[in-house]
Amino acid sequence: MNPNELLFVPLGGAGEIGLNLYLFGYDGRWLMVDLGISFADEMLPGVEIVLPDPGFITERREDLAGLVLTHAHEDHFGAIPYLWDQLSCPVWCTPFTAALLRRKLEENGIGRVPVRVVEPGERFDVGPFDCELLHVTHSIPEANALAIRTPLGNVLHTGDWKIDPVPLLGPTTSVEALQRFGDEGVLAMVADSTNILDPGTSGSEAEVKDSLKDLIGRLGQRVVLTTFASNVARVQTAIEVAHEVGREVCAVGRSMRRMLEAAREVGYLADLKPLLDERAASALPRNRILWLATGCQGEPRAALARMASGQHPAVRLQPDDAVIFSSKIIPGNERTLYNLHNDLVSQGVEVITEHDHFVHVSGHPCRDEVEQMYRWIRPQIAIPVHGEARHLHEHLALARQLGVPQALEVRNGDLARLAPGPSEVIDEVPVGRLVLENQVLIQAGDDLFRTRRRLMAHGTVLVSLVVDSYGSMLAPPQVSAFGAIDLDRLNAGRQAMIGEIEEAIEELDDAAVLDDERVRERVRTAVRRGLRLAREKRPIIEVQIIRLGQDALAGLEQAEGVAP
Ligand SMILES: [Zn+2]
Ligand SMILES: [Zn+2]
Repeated sequence: MNPNELLFVPLGGAGEIGLNLYLFGYDGRWLMVDLGISFADEMLPGVEIVLPDPGFITERREDLAGLVLTHAHEDHFGAIPYLWDQLSCPVWCTPFTAALLRRKLEENGIGRVPVRVVEPGERFDVGPFDCELLHVTHSIPEANALAIRTPLGNVLHTGDWKIDPVPLLGPTTSVEALQRFGDEGVLAMVADSTNILDPGTSGSEAEVKDSLKDLIGRLGQRVVLTTFASNVARVQTAIEVAHEVGREVCAVGRSMRRMLEAAREVGYLADLKPLLDERAASALPRNRILWLATGCQGEPRAALARMASGQHPAVRLQPDDAVIFSSKIIPGNERTLYNLHNDLVSQGVEVITEHDHFVHVSGHPCRDEVEQMYRWIRPQIAIPVHGEARHLHEHLALARQLGVPQALEVRNGDLARLAPGPSEVIDEVPVGRLVLENQVLIQAGDDLFRTRRRLMAHGTVLVSLVVDSYGSMLAPPQVSAFGAIDLDRLNAGRQAMIGEIEEAIEELDDAAVLDDERVRERVRTAVRRGLRLAREKRPIIEVQIIRLGQDALAGLEQAEGVAP
């Protein structure tokens, strides 16, 4: 690294929503902002979580000055327990984020993490970077933008944010602090693009509260409300609204209880009337209780999915009960959630989502809010992140339209120089994704997943051959199939396929028959032909060859001779 340059490298977040990991370089040191996870899609069967590959920075660990967390959403801090061994740097964050981080680390048996708790407005040095968190509203308490001051220029990393005029919990977005930072002169703004395609503004938690009160007040039977546990303002809203309309509240699901505990620990929710435990709640008539449940994304082990499948110990849903999804569908979860909705509706349960009622607002800025941020900060360089290609593209166009002198397009792994001189991508660094597979981190591009996808789609055929040292078959080939084709239904066809295999091997010349790879190749072709596989069917055809030498054969004959 040239110490006289100000550099920016996204390793996660520039090209996707989720998996945030950003690096700023200056004076020979690196500052890391956020370290998130995302959830695996169908390309990674059997995998739950995906992490950014931090290889670029772990190779430079001695130059890593520290990690600043903007907020405690999983896509911004969820990877810490998994990557901690490789990083072990000081971490700066606000009290609520620290409370959740501590719990997360404890659960994973990690101690001695140097967490420095800071308040918004407090200045702290991370190596050569003069840092300050500026409070912004979002869908979790204590979200922050990060102001970074360096002799080569100032940078604002917006983190995840919105302008909620009445956030109900915590202060509003610190407009004055943002404007003041803008007045100092800001070289670059790294900015949230999640809702850039949506016009207007994202709305307020206060409006959701009014709407939920109206809705729950009209519902006559049991009400289950599900939302992201981390949206403490929404959770508070649900509790307050329930109490206002004469219902008690019971929180179910581990992450809901853990989040409530962390919020109370740092002083939130102090004025709330106590909640009921499951036993007390179950004893009440169903129109006197609101169940606050985890599982708004249809997570199979969460409280709501268990209620829907009749497996929850405390809640048996009945016809005319209502389930309110006070949340959005995270892209990719549509099928899972619609299945859950279908399950509920089939039981006569009323399903209420943001499509039917005003029960949710996003935590990210819509287009008007993003424009407002540009007016406050007035950066020289716009760097859209926290978005897929289509979001980043639209955000770049908006920045140009707003007259930002430079709109810099970066993708994960791009190394951009922000100063001196005009900003540009000057290099590419190694980038990738890791997944937790069987408790071990491996590359998401590993062949393991290609094989697993092929097995899921096409199954496998297993052929075992026993041959002697001359390549002659000592027994008929054994063929099994798993998920590829029903061999029993082949009847005579099965015999024909075995005949094809035998013939294929007999046709091989003396050299080829001793070459395992050539035998395998020939057998695979014979199996495809024998099974009459359509061109698009591509099962994995695994051929096991057991070659018995003269000694082994002699041993076998002897053993046969003494057998009764
Ligand atoms: Zn995020
Ligand atoms: Zn967030």
